[in-house]
Amino acid sequence: MVKVKSSFFCQNCGNQSSKWIGKCSSCNEWNTFVEEVIQKSSPIEKLISGSLIKSAKPQLIKDVQPLVSQRIKFLDKEFNRVLGGGLVQGSVVLIGGEPGIGKSTLTLNIALSSNNKCLYVSGEESDEQIKLRAERIGGDMDNCYLLQETNLQQIIHQANQLKPQFIVIDSIQTIQSETVDSSPGSVSQIKESTSQIVKYAKLNNIPVLLIGHINKEGSIAGPKILEHMVDTVLQFEGDQHHIYRIIRSIKNRFGSTNEIGIYEMTSKGLIEVENPSKVLINNHQELLSGVAIAASLEGLRPILIEIQALTSSAAYGTPQRSSTGFDLRRLNMLTCGIRKKMRI
Ligand SMILES: [Zn+2]
Repeated sequence: MVKVKSSFFCQNCGNQSSKWIGKCSSCNEWNTFVEEVIQKSSPIEKLISGSLIKSAKPQLIKDVQPLVSQRIKFLDKEFNRVLGGGLVQGSVVLIGGEPGIGKSTLTLNIALSSNNKCLYVSGEESDEQIKLRAERIGGDMDNCYLLQETNLQQIIHQANQLKPQFIVIDSIQTIQSETVDSSPGSVSQIKESTSQIVKYAKLNNIPVLLIGHINKEGSIAGPKILEHMVDTVLQFEGDQHHIYRIIRSIKNRFGSTNEIGIYEMTSKGLIEVENPSKVLINNHQELLSGVAIAASLEGLRPILIEIQALTSSAAYGTPQRSSTGFDLRRLNMLTCGIRKKMRI
């Protein structure tokens, strides 16, 4: 009879405790500890069969190879840009976003837009659903393999057989590792599965794209610790009711975090917006008052934005200033300076 071992985990930061405590000593949140069953059976290295453990050796600084040569490039230029020039071999990228925003569409787009052998693991949708979407998107279907699986050891086994150049996992919340007994989506399960995925990626030099759902508080569901475990965290933002989506890098071990990628959601999937300035500016033929064009810098790319202002006489004694998409305190400070120094 195997003794069932359980432990308490903070649902906010993933802190572990042998007994229940009211306040987390790590993140100071209250009532976040939940009991989860854990059962470590065998070391991870044994389960990742077929892969030899490579130990790092010291190397001369002049012999260090630049990362550029080791990156997988996609046809999707926006995605390459956000990653800092392509997907680094052996790296793990977490793509977070609210449900229904189009994370699966984005990753499928990426899987179909490279000439690399890809293993697309889905615990969320059926193969038929994914194929229907792939047909809508179009693209290279000769290199993308679908796998319906949520068991991590099975996924690793299949990946060892197929030897893909990169792996997509949709989503980390559905994955279950045999080494931990708690249910998929729980803190200890997400933590353990991610740690095994990271280990697999590093040992085999195969990059993995992980999809992670965002909870109502706006952070990636599961522990914050997940963000520390992976190499790159990308956030996919936008409004379900609007056509534009932004992908933003929050953490990137292999590039800058200033870059953004802009997409347009269409019936044929996500389309890159190559010239964002075109989208952000209304093309007025006649010159209107209160409209100004400003240049802003996002990463290495200048973006032109349009600012529209309107004034009308106040109904009451004290006039009011309000703004959307601009910090009101900054606006007040600027107008104050203009009034004082330029006497406008
Ligand atoms: Zn905590």
